[in-house]
Amino acid sequence: GSVFAHLVRAPEDPILGVTVAFNKDPSPVKLNLGVGAYRTEEGKPLVLNVVRKAQHQIVNDPSRNKEYLPIVGLADFNKLSAKLIFGADSPAIQENRITTVQCLSGTGSLRVGGEFLAKHYHQRIIYLPKPTWGNHTKVFTLAGLSVKTYRYYAPATRGLDFQGLLEDLGSAPSGSIVLLHACAHNPTGVDPTPEQWEQIRQLIRSKALLPFFDSAYQGFASGNLDADAHSVRSFVADGGELLAAQSYAKNMGLYGERVGALSIVSKSADVASLVESQLKLVIRPMYSNPPLHGASIVATILKDRDLYNEWTIELKGMADRIISMRQQLFDALRSRGTPGDWSHIIKSIGMFTFTGLNPEQVSFMTKEYHIYLTSDGRISMAGLSSKTVPHLADAIHAAVT
Ligand code: PMP
Repeated sequence: GSVFAHLVRAPEDPILGVTVAFNKDPSPVKLNLGVGAYRTEEGKPLVLNVVRKAQHQIVNDPSRNKEYLPIVGLADFNKLSAKLIFGADSPAIQENRITTVQCLSGTGSLRVGGEFLAKHYHQRIIYLPKPTWGNHTKVFTLAGLSVKTYRYYAPATRGLDFQGLLEDLGSAPSGSIVLLHACAHNPTGVDPTPEQWEQIRQLIRSKALLPFFDSAYQGFASGNLDADAHSVRSFVADGGELLAAQSYAKNMGLYGERVGALSIVSKSADVASLVESQLKLVIRPMYSNPPLHGASIVATILKDRDLYNEWTIELKGMADRIISMRQQLFDALRSRGTPGDWSHIIKSIGMFTFTGLNPEQVSFMTKEYHIYLTSDGRISMAGLSSKTVPHLADAIHAAVT
């Protein structure tokens, strides 16, 4: 018999499993609103035009080779990534207080940050918003941190449970790590206002909590790269320390290339260089060094003014299409007289809407309408188009009446 015969079958991933089920469905009207991946009006994956141009430059440049990158990744990529999230005029960049390492997209950046903290930070408790992206709990638990949650979403108002958030972070043990979604909170689509961010910042700093920002949607939420980095930059402006994980999956459409960065902002250039030396020890036994191609694409775009400008236009185009899907879905439900207040669909920010549908309603929609979404009722607005909105609205209407 096999030495692995004793294995118990593991469940499918709650998010990626939705795509597995979708792929098995032969229905011509099937619709995948599970995974957060951008689709065009025609329902097709999108490769940005700037990405095609950058790739073209890269493959036609005979001076490029396929040598290993350093453990920390491509130097240009790291520098430009820090500039993108912290702002070109960030004092922390000028003072060399930031260590940036190229990692395997957002997930890998979170994991490297988690491993580093578990090894070198005095407090091993990390607070995650409730709810949060499902992978956060697993990433940080396996990194060796102890995961707790803070209240975030209030189902009754379909908004932020701001009082609950302040109470829970207010009673967290001093030094605890706090994971914050920089913008476009996944799965709820609910972000704090700038005034609320300011109160959160004051509380975090007064209790010496350590903020760890997850920035998976910069520019993708509002269409503006600076606006979507506001929360992170306000925490850098106060001179305090923090971590930030960046992903280029959504905002450059580089999902499968696995391009991201982890930045750690320290109090001094000396500490930043100690941090870098230890990050290398975390990375080397995990995967030695990160992949070259995706980081070269990003660096090529960020470094060239014309490509950069073209990127911001394409990025805004994606954000605007998602925002228009919100309005269309809202209007379609209103014109059907679907019971309930659906204004949260137009109010939510980013890729997702937390519909408020329960697991029974979700499974009804899958069974009767071939619409695939996670059981928490989250839908990816980016998977919708003008053509599919009526089908979704019919399904939601039938599910709630
Ligand atoms: N954090 C959040 C909140 C996300 O939504 C995602 C993507 N679904 C990620 C991190 C990481 O994605 P990736 O590893 O593909 O960059």
